[in-house]
Amino acid sequence: MSTAEVGSHLRENPFELAKSQLRRVGEVFALDPNLIRVLSQCKKAVEVSIPVQMDDGSIEVFLGYRVTHNIARGPSKGGIRYHPAVTRDEVKALAMWMTWKCALMGLPFGGAKGGVVCNPKTLSPKELERMTRRYTSEIINDIGPERDIPAPDVGTDGRVMAWIFDTYSMNKGHSVLGVVTGKPLSVGGSLGREEATARGALYCIQALAVKQGMRTSEYSVAIQGFGNVGAHLARLLHLEGAKVVAVSDSRGGAHNPDGIDVPAALAHKQERGTLAGLANAEPVTNEELLELECDILAPCALEQVITEENADRIKARVICEGANGPVTPTADAILEEKGVLVLPDVLANAGGVVVSYFEWVQGLQEYFWREDEVNAKLHDIVARAFEEAWQTRDRFETSLRLASYGLAVQRVAEATTTRGLYP
Ligand code: NAD
Repeated sequence: MSTAEVGSHLRENPFELAKSQLRRVGEVFALDPNLIRVLSQCKKAVEVSIPVQMDDGSIEVFLGYRVTHNIARGPSKGGIRYHPAVTRDEVKALAMWMTWKCALMGLPFGGAKGGVVCNPKTLSPKELERMTRRYTSEIINDIGPERDIPAPDVGTDGRVMAWIFDTYSMNKGHSVLGVVTGKPLSVGGSLGREEATARGALYCIQALAVKQGMRTSEYSVAIQGFGNVGAHLARLLHLEGAKVVAVSDSRGGAHNPDGIDVPAALAHKQERGTLAGLANAEPVTNEELLELECDILAPCALEQVITEENADRIKARVICEGANGPVTPTADAILEEKGVLVLPDVLANAGGVVVSYFEWVQGLQEYFWREDEVNAKLHDIVARAFEEAWQTRDRFETSLRLASYGLAVQRVAEATTTRGLYP
């Protein structure tokens, strides 16, 4: 992978980072090195070319991936990312993290991820649809309700999931609800799925507040990224009375130490597609936002935004990883030294895959739940995982990240050992 790629947000190879995290978990939890070797590799990585007729009649060829890391605990599950900087090793790292996330939450899934190297913002809706349908056709034998179940990630949404669902179903000759999650409600989506990732992060922050003897409303929070995860997290924290002091999207952010008017920010973003020019707030760059005074910093955009270069300047006492992999291992060590608590991605942003699991279950049963049932079940799972991770952290006197990964890896290792090595 070329990390020097122009425009890439990745400084270090994410798959190498993910593997080094796994080796560290193996050491701390004294896991069998043979198992760590097995879990260090992805089971399958498919690379496809996606020729697409553009609106002007020309043909563009996009590069797509679908990677399954592990299926020891069940079919693989993971989002599809549309972004210009997608690489095979980024997708592999994200697939591995999905395995740990599903295991930590106790879901009967392994981990997967997909991606297409493209800029969805520059594609017309028709081009996006043709690209999605062709990508789906290229990976059609690799996905399925019992095999591998995609979901939204950066640059994809319910509309894209609906095209995947339709393409797969047209090829099978009947509707297959369980092939993909994050679908719109009209085609078998689940109530509560859209905001589920942010809601899971909120539940982690609330569990932390109990541990710290605080109320959620007492926290001040800076949020990077104003997409599915970041915007919903800002909204939910605001509803809980917390002070959201800064928000940002890819074009920059807005800061007000007395609190951003979150409903106004949501309306502004909806109307203008950007946070630039938000009233009653000062402009702030994405780099500056990370270093603002606040209790909780929630990176909810892309990987590797907190590195050895800026970790020392982070002023937040808690980092809530809404994004996957926003803190590099070197930065992790610096933050730990400084006494900054990191709520790791596999815990803090797992709400999305938990409600994706609920959507898959509802689709298979063709029986749909009320939103309050979805949220209550989500709360049960996230709160239990938080408590298990917290206790493991205390028992092993380690970081919450290592404790969470440790619990997850042990569960996957146990399933792998119980099943045995085929043949
Ligand atoms: P999204 O596409 O809806 O939003 C991404 C946001 O990040 C946008 O506001 C975008 O403007 C901003 N952004 C892009 N590049 C940026 C940059 N260089 N600097 C600052 N901001 C930038 O994506 P999402 O679904 O909200 O996902 C965000 C993160 O959360 C990703 O790491 C994703 O893997 C992770 N995640 C998402 C889900 C989910 O259910 N959507 C679940 C778990 C984890």
